[in-house]
Amino acid sequence: MARVLFINAGSEGHINPTIGVVQELVNRGEEVVYFCTEAFRQRLEKAGAFVRTIDDLRFIQAFLSGGRTYLIERINGLLLTADIVIPSVLEQIEGEHFDYIIHDSMFGCGRLLAQILELPAINSCTSFAQTRESFDRMLDQYQSEVPLETAKPIVERYHSLTAMVKEKYGVEIQSPYEAFCNPAPLTIVYTTKEFQPDVESFDSSYKFVGPSITPRSAPNNFDSTVIMGKDPIYISLGTVFNRAIDFYKLCFEALGETEHTIVMSVGTRTPIGDLGEIPDNFIVQNYVPQTEVLQQSKLFITHGGMNSTHEGLYYGVPLIVIPQGADQPLIARQVANIGAGIHLHMESLTSNQLRDAVDHVLHTSSCKDAVTAIRTSFGTYEGYQQAADEIFSFRRFA
Ligand code: UDP
Repeated sequence: MARVLFINAGSEGHINPTIGVVQELVNRGEEVVYFCTEAFRQRLEKAGAFVRTIDDLRFIQAFLSGGRTYLIERINGLLLTADIVIPSVLEQIEGEHFDYIIHDSMFGCGRLLAQILELPAINSCTSFAQTRESFDRMLDQYQSEVPLETAKPIVERYHSLTAMVKEKYGVEIQSPYEAFCNPAPLTIVYTTKEFQPDVESFDSSYKFVGPSITPRSAPNNFDSTVIMGKDPIYISLGTVFNRAIDFYKLCFEALGETEHTIVMSVGTRTPIGDLGEIPDNFIVQNYVPQTEVLQQSKLFITHGGMNSTHEGLYYGVPLIVIPQGADQPLIARQVANIGAGIHLHMESLTSNQLRDAVDHVLHTSSCKDAVTAIRTSFGTYEGYQQAADEIFSFRRFA
């Protein structure tokens, strides 16, 4: 038995694929100590982890204080979380021994902790993987769009934050790529080679294990029997960028009083009362058991979060992807590239356009064929079991 330190300060999308991995590691005899925010305690304890927490409010405040507009600001935001995560983790594990660390590819300063603790490290990547080259290209493109006088103080802040990290924690950050993508000797990517863009640019330290989807026990009050046999359309913008009252109202306009049954998850921060009159064919909730709902759905209107996209395709559901930010535009393009759905743009979206897109996807056989093809390719991967196999073979040689 080995002791595993799991660091993941991310939101639901970063946590969900790791639940099966934890379960599998625990079943194979590992002891997993998992650092996350309080919201995920229950589901990770159920998976068998010993949960310890990071202060979520202070963490989010630190991250957002870096700024949201430019990529380099989000990198600064991640560096600002170092002072929230690192002292807290070090204090909570003082005097304990760990054999290796698994960390999220983005949130939780995992690479820094791995270096401080001198532990063999595994990167848990819940989006598309990025090489140093592809990340630098993206950063250059973002930077070229930033006015010079705006960019200067942000870049200076990046340099002062990396200097602060070096001084306080004795660890050197060599590049923005390191701060944003937390590279490690082994990276588990929860997608398939068929779905990952530019897959040939990744070396063998990247293991594509396929979607890692497990039954979940998140609290909800959704009665699944209500949609039994109804073939609903499911709408959700995920758990982060989901305060979108105008969009939800546009969905009412496009699809209200039609023959379709619609399930719409509006997120826990959208008061349902603010949506006005809800058409009779809509079931609107703050949170639904998404993987259960998808198993009955004929179409998924999604923001294109990596998990939502995987879950839809895994259950053979075609997608209309309306990205809201982060990696979602890239994912939307990839869904459209493989023909498994349509990519729409939030800024210019009209109710007619949405209605036409729904009709198109529901009545186009090439779209269903593409979904079947990607679903079949998903089936050739073993998700969390394959992840555990890779982790075990890595740790034998680490
Ligand atoms: N989710 C859910 N019920 C909801 C909304 C979301 O179970 O009502 C889950 C969904 O199944 C997925 C995760 O939350 O696993 C969202 O992750 P994703 O990467 O799609 O988007 P994010 O929330 O990170 O933007």
